Amino acid sequence: MIPIQMVDLKRQYSKIKEEVDKAVVDVMDNTSFINGSAVASFTSKLSAYLGIEHVIPCANGTDALQIAMMALDLQPGDEVITPSFTYIATTEVMALLRLKPVFVDVDPDTFNINADAIRKAITNKTKAIVPVHLYGQSANMEEIMQIANEFGLYVIEDNAQAIGATISFSDGSVHKTGTIGHFGCTSFFPSKNLGAFGDGGAIFTRDAALAEKAKMIANHGQSKRYYHDLVGCNSRLDSMQAAVLNVKIDYLDEYNEARQLAAAYYSKAFSENSRIQTPTIAKGNTHVFHQYTLKLNGVDRNELVNYLGGQKIPAMIYYPVPAHRQKMFSFLNLPEVNLPVTDWLTERVFSLPMHTELDQEQLEFITTHVLNFINK
Ligand SMILES: *Cc1c(COP(=O)(O)O)cnc(C)c1O
Repeated sequence: MIPIQMVDLKRQYSKIKEEVDKAVVDVMDNTSFINGSAVASFTSKLSAYLGIEHVIPCANGTDALQIAMMALDLQPGDEVITPSFTYIATTEVMALLRLKPVFVDVDPDTFNINADAIRKAITNKTKAIVPVHLYGQSANMEEIMQIANEFGLYVIEDNAQAIGATISFSDGSVHKTGTIGHFGCTSFFPSKNLGAFGDGGAIFTRDAALAEKAKMIANHGQSKRYYHDLVGCNSRLDSMQAAVLNVKIDYLDEYNEARQLAAAYYSKAFSENSRIQTPTIAKGNTHVFHQYTLKLNGVDRNELVNYLGGQKIPAMIYYPVPAHRQKMFSFLNLPEVNLPVTDWLTERVFSLPMHTELDQEQLEFITTHVLNFINK
């Protein structure tokens, strides 16, 4: 059996090596390392893939979130409603900009931000909502947009884990995640569903003025060369990463399907077991399984991780500490937030290997050993 990894980038690369190598060598040959033609062509491919007019490439997903918040002119003290049950980058940039993250609870089945909790958290200082499409499925964007419209709030979608996922609204319209709010932000970190060979990110919007502003901020606030109208930063997708992504974006749907097949195998194998709750796909959603995350019920999670480790099966806890319990935020003097679902999930979630190269033999080995431990 091929050794099992959380993410097997080596085997994925081996299948497209010729194409990728050629694209990277082309960049080296024409030495257009910054803002080369690969960046322009990837940006327009991504824009076509998402069906959204404006795509601004940048250095990573964290920067994408920060630039979007800067482009919306969010000011110190402004409140931003967001889940605590997410990767730290979502909320870290709020602290960096001295915004006030208002952490709300998530839905115990989808792991995504709870719309009722958003409503309850709105004050006259609330300026924006930042939902995260965690593990690869959309948050309840129809209701989130309704709330945003009702209260005049901005929405920035953290789409780092869900590129290619869709959600259908009650009017039958189907939307790609990241294209619904005022801004969508994504990451091309190597292990993401669309991963580069290093760091990368992008911001999407339908709004031409916001796009222009985000583009300026990502480029030192520059309107024309050496004229700097806004305080910005230096955040670029480099040409070599764009060249890799230019090849890989053509495989994105195939990659997401491979993830869905692996997820279906897992979910079928665990379907009869009362101590394992398999992922719930909300009605109208397609899930692209950035992670395959189970909830364990009455199982010693550490022991399970150790047991699987002994069989050379990796497993991870995403995430062991929710944002509102991170020391990073202590300086903000957040009032005691009470997020029972987030805390409950933090104790129970458990993620199995998930990538595009899992084969039947590996999946059978993993599920057999998980069930061996659970049923012992
Ligand atoms: C990966 C990730 C990010 C940050 O992306 P980087 O490219 O690593 O900066 C932000 N939010 C979520 C939910 C992520 O998973």
